[in-house]
Amino acid sequence: MGFKKIGFIGLGAMGLPMAKNLVKKGFELHVTAHRNRQPVEELKSAGAVEHSSIKEVAAHCEVLLSILPTDKEMESVLLSEDVLETLSSDAILLEMTSGSPAMMKKVNEAFQSKRIKVLDGPVSGGTIGAEQGTLTVMAGGEDNVLEQVRPILDAMSKNIYLVGPIGAGKAIKAVNQMMAAMHMVVTAEATALAEKLEIDKDMLKQVIGSSSGASWMFMNKLDSLSNRDFAPGFKLSLMRKDVEIAVAEGADLQLAFAEAALDLYKETEKEYGESDFSVIGKSILS
Ligand code: NDP
Repeated sequence: MGFKKIGFIGLGAMGLPMAKNLVKKGFELHVTAHRNRQPVEELKSAGAVEHSSIKEVAAHCEVLLSILPTDKEMESVLLSEDVLETLSSDAILLEMTSGSPAMMKKVNEAFQSKRIKVLDGPVSGGTIGAEQGTLTVMAGGEDNVLEQVRPILDAMSKNIYLVGPIGAGKAIKAVNQMMAAMHMVVTAEATALAEKLEIDKDMLKQVIGSSSGASWMFMNKLDSLSNRDFAPGFKLSLMRKDVEIAVAEGADLQLAFAEAALDLYKETEKEYGESDFSVIGKSILS
């Protein structure tokens, strides 16, 4: 029989719509409030069970799913006694944060010592993919663990790739984010130039969309950049964290563009860390 009881930690821009899809597909969801009660209220009205603490969530689930902001929260939440001493040894940790490979391996070691299985599974596809259940999952771990949680992943995603051992999911996600961060800067510069040259935006999208300069970022972010709409979405502070992971992993390589992008994200974060990462275009666009 498949796993039905899911403890869901990290009910943010990604976690909330992912959790809603799980409830819709008939999974029994166990949640607790962190600072913001709103997502718990929404999930409760959809049928989720609220608990008073993460320890209680851990006590009631067969799969603990986490999608937290950064390594820091992965460490403080997942390596806490409340989780490690409470979760059943039959349970699985499905860890979907965009964290570092090193933190994923550290978490895995702690769970392995309790004989709890782990799957590394960061995602791509943004909040729209989370809402529509069309995310891409970059899984790291063992095939048999992936198969055990596959129905859960199917409820939230369209593409599931097993890319290697624990940590490999986080690694490929870091590569994706390094590229996405740079594509956003490129898209902002392209938008600025096209505006100066008085090129119609829809014409630009159509022509570049079928030419060699196109990217996912260009096709999906041109409109909001043109409208100067920087509401998250995906917070710039989280994108900075992702590029930082990539640049640290490639410290011995010549990643000059990624390093320049990281500097730009760090500078912009001082004022706009909570805005969508497309706000990187604010200083480029007049
Ligand atoms: P958000 O900041 O929107 O959400 C983070 C969630 O984690 C909030 O619900 C927050 O609760 C909760 N949280 C923070 N600290 C703790 C804690 N100590 N214990 C329990 N809950 C906690 O982030 P996103 O949802 O945007 O991103 C989550 C992860 O997914 C990140 O690693 C990000 O890089 C990645 N990601 C994001 C995408 C996006 O488009 N947004 C796309 C793909 C991946 P509270 O608000 O109450 O503090």
